[in-house]
Amino acid sequence: MSRITIVGGGLVGSLLTVLLARRGHKVDVFERRGDPRRTNVYAGRSINLVVSHRGWTALKAAGVQDAVERIVVPVYARMTHDLDGKLTRLPYSIENRAIHSVSRGELNKVMLTEAEKLPNVKLHFDHPCVEVDLEHARCTFRHEVSGAVSNIKSDVVFGADGAPSAVRQAMMRGRFNFSQSFIEHDYKEIAFPSNADGTPKMDPQCLHIWPRRYFMLMGLANQDGGFTGTLFMPHAATENSPGFDVLKEEKDVRKFFQDHFTDAIPMVPDLVEQYMRNPQSNLAIIRCAPWTHKDKVALIGDAAHAIVPFYGEGMNAGYEDCKVLNDLLNQHGDDNWGVVLDAYHKARKPNGDAIADLSLRNFVEMRDLVADPKFILRKKIEGRLQQRHPDKWLPLYSQVKFSDIAYTDAWNEGLRHDRIMEQVLAMPGIEEKWESEEVEKMALGLLEGLA
Ligand SMILES: Cc1cc2nc3c(=O)[nH]c(=O)nc-3n(C[C@H](O)[C@H](O)[C@H](O)COP(=O)(O)OP(=O)(O)OC[C@H]3O[C@@H](n4cnc5c(N)ncnc54)[C@H](O)[C@@H]3O)c2cc1C
Repeated sequence: MSRITIVGGGLVGSLLTVLLARRGHKVDVFERRGDPRRTNVYAGRSINLVVSHRGWTALKAAGVQDAVERIVVPVYARMTHDLDGKLTRLPYSIENRAIHSVSRGELNKVMLTEAEKLPNVKLHFDHPCVEVDLEHARCTFRHEVSGAVSNIKSDVVFGADGAPSAVRQAMMRGRFNFSQSFIEHDYKEIAFPSNADGTPKMDPQCLHIWPRRYFMLMGLANQDGGFTGTLFMPHAATENSPGFDVLKEEKDVRKFFQDHFTDAIPMVPDLVEQYMRNPQSNLAIIRCAPWTHKDKVALIGDAAHAIVPFYGEGMNAGYEDCKVLNDLLNQHGDDNWGVVLDAYHKARKPNGDAIADLSLRNFVEMRDLVADPKFILRKKIEGRLQQRHPDKWLPLYSQVKFSDIAYTDAWNEGLRHDRIMEQVLAMPGIEEKWESEEVEKMALGLLEGLA
């Protein structure tokens, strides 16, 4: 049994707590914020997340799948809204598989409750970590209200403290690589209420997207019949796109929505008020290495690999970190932290980089390509290939969202698919003959390197 300190009781920290406590370790979690089950720590940031296959695999390993299943909404397709309000439904999988929408706040609450059920877990809220002594696995916390300082010595410290990670900051004083890049887009939440009788205003089993090339609105269903909408738009306007910096006046905001998201307006009566009131947040990619310090400290989740949200995989990747760590403990034993942490870093770092790249790539797909007829045709051809040759062709989206295939392998296979589909889509008359033997043969030939 080891004494473990987890810094950060967010999505990844709470799952890690359950996994390690179930193994018999004594786990203390120190969370900067108050207890979300008692205070509204998520006010104005009511983000909805999708849980996908990797997330479920990790939740299953921790024995908390049932608790989470009760709070999710299944999502089977993307629904694009064009400028005239015309809807196009694009299923995520030919096998009718779903990803699952969940409120970040609700998920966090459920997971903290599951963690607290275990006798060897102690949760400490309002305890920001202010310093870490890496050599001795000792953390310093300063209580938010009283200001009291405590020094906690443990055997192993996990930094599950998200993108701004204090644990990572302590590691940065040594030989440590770090990069942070902000993308040009920021985001803002817009809540879509349900109808008065609690029914949803749009199909709740779809992720709704208004792709407008340089910016986009998307909406994910909540269990109460409402949707959480997110507007992604450049921080600063460009010659092609409006930006948050110029949309400051109510009249401009109203006109912006009228021009670009007409069919959303009747669904959100206080749209302009929400836009003016809700905070604007930025998006960054953080890469760093190494994720571990000897047998004493490890980063996990966003603290190790913050990514942009366009594949909906940030939390799923963090959950997979936890699952891989758990598997390594099974393999090497619970008292072999040096070997386990080293193997954890080697296994997960390349995958953290790959999902960062995949997520940026999916941004282009969501805001731009889903409205492109060529892209829709490509999806149809790939769907057909998968249907007829499931052992040979698994589209990139399915590799990422519906499989355990390493993100690194998915990335490489995705690039190969791009090259093949570029040639397939260039075939004369492809629009008419996409369902033909000829097209199938060409794609499979290229796949096997024969054509
Ligand atoms: C708009 C948006 C949409 C997203 N959609 C999806 C999605 O659909 N699917 C998906 O898988 N992911 C999604 N993500 C990503 C997901 O939110 C993150 O990957 C996930 O929250 C990471 O979990 P974490 O526990 O590592 O970090 P966090 O959730 O950031 O949790 C870190 C915790 O540490 C605490 N903390 C911070 N500093 C300290 C400190 N010094 N001391 C103590 N505690 C501290 C924080 O208060 C917090 O509770 C989305 C992100 C955004 C922004």
